[in-house]
Amino acid sequence: MSIRLTPEQIERYSRQIMIPDLGGRGQIRLRRGKVLIIGSGGLGCPAAFYLTAAGIGTLGLVDGDRVELSNLQRQILHSTMDVGREKVASAKEKLNRLNPEVEICNYPVRFDEKNAAEIAAPYDFIIDGSDNFATKFLVNDIAVSLGKPFSHAGIVRLQGQTMTVIPHQSACYRCLFKEPPAPGEILNCQQAGILGAIAGTIGSIQATEAIKYFAGMEEELLVDRLLTYDAKAMKFRIVDVKKNPRCGACGGKTLNSLIV
Ligand code: ZN
Repeated sequence: MSIRLTPEQIERYSRQIMIPDLGGRGQIRLRRGKVLIIGSGGLGCPAAFYLTAAGIGTLGLVDGDRVELSNLQRQILHSTMDVGREKVASAKEKLNRLNPEVEICNYPVRFDEKNAAEIAAPYDFIIDGSDNFATKFLVNDIAVSLGKPFSHAGIVRLQGQTMTVIPHQSACYRCLFKEPPAPGEILNCQQAGILGAIAGTIGSIQATEAIKYFAGMEEELLVDRLLTYDAKAMKFRIVDVKKNPRCGACGGKTLNSLIV
């Protein structure tokens, strides 16, 4: 079945359709794409915003938290009047306003080892916008076990990092870091702080990777490379990452264990 773009869609997406690497064909492929975003916070908000603006077909939003005043400095889908509301409900309202033709599916729950596989199953690409190591490892392990491509990211203070994973083809997060650090070993954003614009930069890169994956640029993803961003020195660096044949997640045929 062929899908055609309507005149309204051609106008809405004209500035990206004119990019030769994307084109009308890429736009149609994007329209069929389903992306699951773990976390509607600092990374999830910009990622969801740009994917919705770009015309992704379906977005799933997973977050069990409610909006707090201290979120608003970086979680750009939420406003002052949203404090106390479910984050996914607040996010969906803004995203629908921006682009009503994107289907938004809300999961107002914490992404955990019990619900992860069921929530992730219908999606083609996962964006990890979580704020803790246990969830980052869980996203990795579920995505690898289901064979779903995903974008990893982490941010703290004035630094960020991101890497895209194509399971069983490229290095996964567990190839890079075997297991989560001991509690308290590495500070998270809540303990150490984060500049909102850093989350915006890294979340936008995650959205870009998802768009590239669907729109025909999947050969040029950020795979086997960790991109690090040091905003204080204003330097981006690439660290080559090798697939580990003994990796606990992607090294064998089956997943050894899920981190809880
Ligand atoms: Zn691996």
